[in-house]
This record gives sequence, C-alpha cells and structure tokens, in this order.
Amino acid sequence: LINSFAGLRADIEGRDDFIIEASKKIRGFINVAGIESPGLSSAPAIAEMVSGILKEVVKEISPRLELNYKDDFIETLPEQPRFADYLDKTGKWQEIVEKDADYGEIICRCEKVSKGEMLRVIHQPVPARSLDAIKRRIRAGMGRCQGGFCSPKVLKILSEELKISPLKITKKGKDSEILKTKTKDMIKETGVKFKDEVRV
Ligand SMILES: Cc1cc2nc3c(=O)[nH]c(=O)nc-3n(C[C@H](O)[C@H](O)[C@H](O)COP(=O)(O)OP(=O)(O)OC[C@H]3O[C@@H](n4cnc5c(N)ncnc54)[C@H](O)[C@@H]3O)c2cc1C
Repeated sequence: LINSFAGLRADIEGRDDFIIEASKKIRGFINVAGIESPGLSSAPAIAEMVSGILKEVVKEISPRLELNYKDDFIETLPEQPRFADYLDKTGKWQEIVEKDADYGEIICRCEKVSKGEMLRVIHQPVPARSLDAIKRRIRAGMGRCQGGFCSPKVLKILSEELKISPLKITKKGKDSEILKTKTKDMIKETGVKFKDEVRV
C-alpha cells in the first residue's frame, strides 16, 4: 500500500507573490497570506520580515514600547543527530553511539532512522505520540516500504515509552488505533482454532 498526498494551495488570483504586510484597515494586524509553495522553505525569511514589520507597527502604535527577546529565547535548536546525515562520516556517528547505544539501533531501514532519534522525538517538549507524528518528524515509515517493516517496532517503542497498551497506540490520534485486540483474547472470545491446533 503506497500513500499519496493531497493538500490545498493558497493561491491568490492575479498575484504571483505572497502577501506580507501590515493591514491598511486594522491597526496592529499583519497579513501573512497566500503562502503557497515554496512557503515552507520561505518560512524563516517570512518570520524575519514579519518581525521587521512588527517593529515598525509597534513604533507607530506605542512608541515607548520596547520589543526585546525573552530571557529564555533559544535562537538555535540543540543539535539533533540524524543517522541519515552521517552516512559518509560513520566514524563521527560511532562517537554518538558510544554516548548513547540507542543511536546504534536502526529501526527504519528505508529511511535509516535509529531508535535514539525516535526516543528523542517521543520525549521532546512537543512530543510525538502517534506513528504519523514520528513519521512527520524523523521520516520513519516514509520510505520505500511505507512502514511495512518498521511500523510494528515503532508501535512497540511508543507503547513502552508512553507506558500505555499497544492497543492504544494510534496512527494519527483519536479513532485510528492500529491493533484491535490481542490474538490470544480473540481466540478465547471467538473459539477460532488455527489449522495446526485442529490437526493436533
Ligand atoms: C502538496 C503540497 C506540497 C508542497 N510542497 C512544498 C515544498 O516542497 N516546499 C515548500 O517550501 N512548500 C511546499 N508547499 C507549500 C507549503 O506547504 C505552504 O506554503 C505552507 O504550508 C503554508 O504555511 P501556512 O502556515 O501559511 O499555512 P498552512 O501550513 O496551510 O497552515 C494553516 C493552518 O491553519 C489551520 N486552519 C485553517 N482554517 C482554520 C480555522 N478556521 N481555524 C483554525 N485553524 C485553521 C489549518 O488546519 C492549518 O494547520 C506544498 C504544499 C502542498 C499542498
């Protein structure tokens, strides 16, 4: 089963560029609209532009207000090692594995994602709690086999780390549980017998 993807593009008729400007109608409101492709790649530049506009807007509305970074503002994210980035410098990856052996266990072979990367996104401040959340953050399950091999392993890791039953792990949140029941419970409930059992 191969996924295909769809989405809406914010296209503004008769205009080839994004709208990034202070509203002429509502004071203090900044329009950031029509952000179609390559909106994602442009996001850091858009943020800088908006911050510049914001400074101008604030100067106009309340000249005495000073805009400063929060004391706990962290400009760059802490380094998040990805095995896939180290393929031509495996010696360096070895150093990471020596510090934390989980980075030496590859869970998604297609996209080369280690268990260490998985644990990191499960426990980060905005945690990944479903298979799709993990896939979107670190690409596990995004490769050629589309999660055919790694999904059961990812499910088990999620269940262990979140300390919840595997039956409660979802693909993408509410009502998308992956496992319906334990095989042994199903056999008990339905009385189904497997071929070998019948033969015995
Ligand atoms: C198929 C596809 C492929 C793309 N590929 C690329 C690419 O390779 N590179 C690239 O740079 N860009 C790409 N883009 C474009 C990029 O995804 C967009 O430019 C970018 O996501 C726009 O960001 P945004 O924050 O403006 O809007 P969005 O990311 O669309 O965010 C808007 C959010 O508002 C929410 N929302 C909508 N209405 C309401 C409401 N009434 N109340 C509350 N929330 C609401 C939506 O659910 C959504 O989460 C692609 C787009 C598509 C569709």
